[in-house]
Amino acid sequence: SLVYLNGEYVRLGDAKVSVLDRGFIFGDGIYEVVPAYARKPFRMDGHLARLERSLKAIGIKLDMSSADWEKLVRDMLARASSDDAMVYIQVTRGVAKRDHAFPASAPKPTVFCMVSPFKRPGAAAREQGYTTVSMPDERWLHCEIKSVSLLGNVLAKQHAVEAGVDEVIQFRDGFLSEGSSCNIWVVRNGTVLGPVRDNLILEGIRYSLMEELARAEGIPFESRRIPRQEVEQADELMLTSATKEVLPIVSLDGKPVGTGKPGPVYARLRAAYDKVIAAL
Ligand code: PLP
Repeated sequence: SLVYLNGEYVRLGDAKVSVLDRGFIFGDGIYEVVPAYARKPFRMDGHLARLERSLKAIGIKLDMSSADWEKLVRDMLARASSDDAMVYIQVTRGVAKRDHAFPASAPKPTVFCMVSPFKRPGAAAREQGYTTVSMPDERWLHCEIKSVSLLGNVLAKQHAVEAGVDEVIQFRDGFLSEGSSCNIWVVRNGTVLGPVRDNLILEGIRYSLMEELARAEGIPFESRRIPRQEVEQADELMLTSATKEVLPIVSLDGKPVGTGKPGPVYARLRAAYDKVIAAL
């Protein structure tokens, strides 16, 4: 399959970047993941706006307009080997002599894009739900940037694997932040609660979608700081991400969440999410 690298389409095995690329040396870059169904991008505007925000946040300037990004995503989808696909975009500051500071004259950023088959979460994940363990959030204080410096997220996910569960739920200073690569939602007394969209979480493209779906369903929705106790005593927990869509969390630290089965608020939001996909 072909990938995009710096303006050209090449075979994956032929796509090479320098060992001096600052993405390799420092993790100095950002990325984006755009899901697509039946070759139609899902919430592309939101994903491309976040891509622009990430680039701006780390001071990478590129001569690519949002129309150029959109064309790239559509070109990649046309080349995809499956109708449901994930478009991965990565931009690094480029190649330069190793020095922490930004190079005095800005190198050409490295722009990479690939598309992979997307296997949607099936009946098992939807019906059995995810198991989780809690852990302290040990990442840096700019989690709002979709940075390729993902060591903290990698270690968090490995923590889940070693605990024999599907995901982690991270807490910072006693408040809910997020999973290793997903946002976490709490249902209490019929209200959907999401953590504040500040520098401590990556605001998923599904964050505002969950808010829209909840409101359309007449389910009360609140963004606020969520203390650990409210997560432990939740009626339901859910997670969202581009690859997981929306899934129920059925256990935390070995204890059942609510009834230990996917709950009614999840079922309504899940159905609403599926309708958005079907209407693409
Ligand atoms: N939080 C983190 C740390 C992530 O890596 C992701 C990405 O999957 C999300 C949240 C969810 O974001 P999105 O809904 O845009 O996939």
